[in-house]
Amino acid sequence: MDSVDVVVIGAGVVGLAVARALALRGREVLILEAAERFGSGVSSRNSEVIHAGIYYPRGSLRARLCVTGRDLLYAYCAAHGIPHRRYGKLIVAGTAAQAAELERIRAGALANGVELTALSGAAAHALEPQLECAAALHSPLTGIIDAHAYMLALLGEAESHGAQLACESAVTAVALREDAFLIGVNGEAPALRARALVNSAGLDAPAVARLMDGFPPARVPAAHLAKGSYFTLGGRSPFSRLIYPLPVPGGLGVHLTLDLAGRARFGPDVEWVAERRYEVDPARAASFYSAIRSWWPALPDGALEPGYSGIRPKITGPGEPQADFRIDGQTAHGVRGLVQLYGIESPGLTSSLAIAELVAGML
Ligand SMILES: Cc1cc2nc3c(=O)[nH]c(=O)nc-3n(C[C@H](O)[C@H](O)[C@H](O)COP(=O)(O)OP(=O)(O)OC[C@H]3O[C@@H](n4cnc5c(N)ncnc54)[C@H](O)[C@@H]3O)c2cc1C
Repeated sequence: MDSVDVVVIGAGVVGLAVARALALRGREVLILEAAERFGSGVSSRNSEVIHAGIYYPRGSLRARLCVTGRDLLYAYCAAHGIPHRRYGKLIVAGTAAQAAELERIRAGALANGVELTALSGAAAHALEPQLECAAALHSPLTGIIDAHAYMLALLGEAESHGAQLACESAVTAVALREDAFLIGVNGEAPALRARALVNSAGLDAPAVARLMDGFPPARVPAAHLAKGSYFTLGGRSPFSRLIYPLPVPGGLGVHLTLDLAGRARFGPDVEWVAERRYEVDPARAASFYSAIRSWWPALPDGALEPGYSGIRPKITGPGEPQADFRIDGQTAHGVRGLVQLYGIESPGLTSSLAIAELVAGML
């Protein structure tokens, strides 16, 4: 049986960041990835926003790891030449009644150490002439990153410190032993022994935890899928900042983000689904037009094209309170050397370097 110090399950942005952090600490790391390529899961189907850390409850993992991760990520981008841009973002209220909600968001952000500037509707309109709103908040720290270039840099650094990536290697069996994990890949009997194990399998993290022989099933959360579809806008964007309405249950509302070439995309919306299917239903455009026109009345008919979609790895379902990230180590489940990462939805990309520091510290 082959032996390795640490196995990381999943080569998404979180698994790669964890592998890098462990490799930099001198640990021997093997990343097992089910797909043909790294970064082809949730990490390639998102908005690529570097979030400031505005909405998350004070003291939650999402608040703390987003704020720390954001600063680490900007520094990492600068040091490694990762394409990114600090566009800034406006959160807009359509009516005077909604403006009170902006004040609540500003106070929550401040509790997380994030300062937002309050703007009148006229001041927001002066910044973005196509925008119509009663009031807005400006977040200067919000930006966009090339997520793939970032993941490539993480992998390169991990590999240059001795980590190895094995693609087309789905973990299908794990047996817990006193001092080790016995791991089986692609349906074969366990042939790999690891001293430590990190489950960062994204949408599959609860399923991977459930297949661990000897792990208490009661410690594994349910998996819920919340699809988010995007529509794109042809031509140049009439906006130069990201524009967000007020948040909705399960998501941040249909917002406008920009890619690094300045093209606009709208979304993601929230659709609870049972299956992982990524086609974008053109019929969903109707709700996008009405949502977007509440702050951009001049959106022309026929301007939106179906784009792509992603699926949020939720651990609470519709109508339930939004869960925090769940990063379970020995104190949560009693198994030494095991870290399970559940519900790493947004802002998981922004938080990835901070999550990695936390996980490396736990091991
Ligand atoms: C619509 C949407 C928009 C988002 N927007 C943003 C944003 O703007 N900013 C932000 O900060 N965050 C955003 N996020 C969140 C962010 O994308 C995720 O938090 C992050 O990508 C999660 O990375 P991960 O490595 O945990 O998961 P993944 O990227 O899914 O990686 C998990 C990997 O595990 C592999 N795997 C699964 N099972 C096994 C197995 N048995 N054996 C081996 N490998 C396995 C998968 O193939 C996959 O490659 C968004 C998410 C969604 C869905």
